[in-house]
Order: sequence, then structure tokens, then C-alpha cells
Amino acid sequence: MVYLDNAATTQKPRQVNEAVTRFYEEANANPLRGVYDLSVKATEAYESAREKVANLIGAKDASEIIFTRNTTEALNLIAYSYGLSHLHEGDEIVITIMEHHSNILPWQMVARQTGAKLVYMMIDKEGRISPEEIETKITDRTKIVSIGYVSNVMGVLNPVEAVIKKAHSVGAIAIVDGAQSTPHMKVDVTELDCDFYALSGHKMLAPMGIGALYGKMKLLLEMPPFLTGGEMIEYVEQQSATFAEVPHKFEAGTVNAGGAVGLGAAIDYINSIGLDYIEKREAELVKYMIERMGELPYIEIIGGSKPCDHHGIVTFMVKDVHPHDVASILDEQHVCIRAGHHCAQPLLKFLGVNATDRASVYFYNTEEEIDRFIDALTKVRGYLGYGA
Ligand code: PMP
Repeated sequence: MVYLDNAATTQKPRQVNEAVTRFYEEANANPLRGVYDLSVKATEAYESAREKVANLIGAKDASEIIFTRNTTEALNLIAYSYGLSHLHEGDEIVITIMEHHSNILPWQMVARQTGAKLVYMMIDKEGRISPEEIETKITDRTKIVSIGYVSNVMGVLNPVEAVIKKAHSVGAIAIVDGAQSTPHMKVDVTELDCDFYALSGHKMLAPMGIGALYGKMKLLLEMPPFLTGGEMIEYVEQQSATFAEVPHKFEAGTVNAGGAVGLGAAIDYINSIGLDYIEKREAELVKYMIERMGELPYIEIIGGSKPCDHHGIVTFMVKDVHPHDVASILDEQHVCIRAGHHCAQPLLKFLGVNATDRASVYFYNTEEEIDRFIDALTKVRGYLGYGA
């Protein structure tokens, strides 16, 4: 099988699966609860994973890392906790037209409930946000700016540094959706100076159901809890409660300790390969893929014209053929790609298409696999009775 749907989720190395199994076989107790040895062991495993996430993304203090289920939950946490408590009628939330639905719907909810307005930065044909767009859309009315680092549709790397600077210059907070950047490149939240950064473990070799949110401590301290219940409290009275310290204030209920341990093992694996190598290798694979796709005149690639505009992701259309048919015909040849709207319907509407195909690589893919993908693609139009 050739697996080219890594932007949706990655395959898991044996080391990650074994780390999860080992946790459940050797350290399984409810973390943060017991005083007995096994529970302490579970707590240590969980907290050590938090340190690994902090080190990976350059957070200075591991307490600024909150474990969540995924990027979606991390962004919802900010929207419900920070958004609802800080926004008022007339305030503006700025995002981009290329956002994943998980960086759109939470802000629609906040806008509806507070009377704030949701404003979109638009893109050019190559998928770029211009400096003028940043200058004119982020204004004194802006209170929150939230932007994906790398687009899950076009693979374009966004000018997050400029966006963060502009957001801060008007007194707004800046959020980065790191779902598609964290697995593929070195990220430093301290250097970026973003206020929040969200990531999903399953897109970077870890199990599904574990993700993380980085937040600046100053903000996390003043924010109300997102979910309430067990584990996140200090004292509970009949009519009131006080809350645990950050990050536990934001981790209500029994945590996904096995998932966190898996994420820690995935980070070890990524570090052993090296993010510099991963980025370089993926750039080679994408360049090769785009070169080979260039041999097929009936293929149109969406987004930037240069391979370096596509960070691991190549979205395309096959002339005359519905994207779902392309993916099905490739599946018959054991090649897995994604077809559909990629959870970015406003972007697809802006681009004037209902659906596209998307091939996305991770560092473990090979040129031979890309050759098999191209071989499979050359058969698509013939299957449906079209000429080359
Ligand atoms: N943002 C981006 C840019 C994504 O690519 C994805 C996943 N496709 C998400 C957010 C949501 O991630 P998850 O489903 O893991 O919450």
C-alpha cells in the first residue's frame, strides 16, 4: 500500500505503539490521584510527556502545555474560555479564508454569543496573504487573530510572524493552528511570540485522541476553566469551587495518559530523525511529486506554482474526473489519497471548486511510492473512457 494521506493522520511507529502498551502494562493507575507508587509512576510518565511537548515547541515552562484531545479541542478551549470572557459587541476576530473548520466554527460561536464580528483575511491565487491584507484587516477593533501556520489544503506556509506582530501592535492576542506545521518543521513558540499554539498528536506519529495547547502563562492564569469536574479543582463547596493550578485547571476528568505517553514517544522518534532532516526530506519528496505530476497535462495543482509553496501537501484536480472517482480508482491500486473538501469549505468555495484530491507525504514516504502514485494516476482517465 502507498499511504499518501499523512495530512489527515500519520502511520504510527512500533516504538510509539510499544510505549503506549508498556504504559498500560507497567504504569497503569489514574495519574495525579493516588499517593501509591503505581499512581506516582503514571503521573511521572504523563508529566514527562508534557515536558517533551514543551521542549519540542520551545515553550519555556511545561505548565504552559495543556493536554487536549486534538487541535479542534485546543481551539475550542481558547474560544470558550478566552473568547467568551473577553469579547464584546463590535470587537473583531480575524482569521483567514484558508482555515480548517476547527479554526472557523469556534469563532463563529464566539461571534454569535458576544456580538463580535468574524473577519477574513483573503488570499491571492497562489494562496498567499498579502502584507496589505494583514495591515487592513487587523485593526484597533481586533481582539483575536487566529491563523493556521501551514494550510491543510494548499500546503502554503503563512506569514505568521507578521500576523502575530500586527496583532500585538493593536493589542490583540495571536493564536497559531499548528496542526500541519508541528509534524514537519521546527517551531518555537517563544520566538514566534504567539499567545496560543495548538497541535494534534495523531498527525505526528502519536495515537489519536491526544493533542496539546500551548498558552502564555499570564493568559492561562486569568482564563476561566473550559470544562469543569474532577481533577481540575482545589476545593469544592456546595455552591462554589476554587480551581487547581494551570495546567490542571484545564484538564478536567481522567486524562488520556496513555495517549500522552504515546505523544512523548512520537516526539522522541521525531527528534531521533531530526526535524531539519524531516523538512528537507519532505521538500525533496514534494518536489519529485510535482515534477512527476507535471508529466500529466490533465492535472491541475491548486495553490502555489513552486514546490516550496507546498509543505508536504499537493492538492490537485484531474480534468473531467470527479475527485472522489480519482481517489476510488487510486484505492483500487492500493494508493491512499484524500478526496473532498478537506474541512475547508469556505476556501474551496473561494477557489471555485466543491472538492479536490490531496496527496500528502511524511518523511517515511519514498520516491518509489510516488512513482506508484503517478502510475495509478495515469490510469484514471483511461478507466473512465477519456483520452490522455
Ligand atoms: N487545523 C488544521 C490545519 C488541520 O489540518 C486539522 C486536521 N486536518 C485540524 C486543524 C484539526 O485537527 P484535529 O482533527 O486533529 O482536531
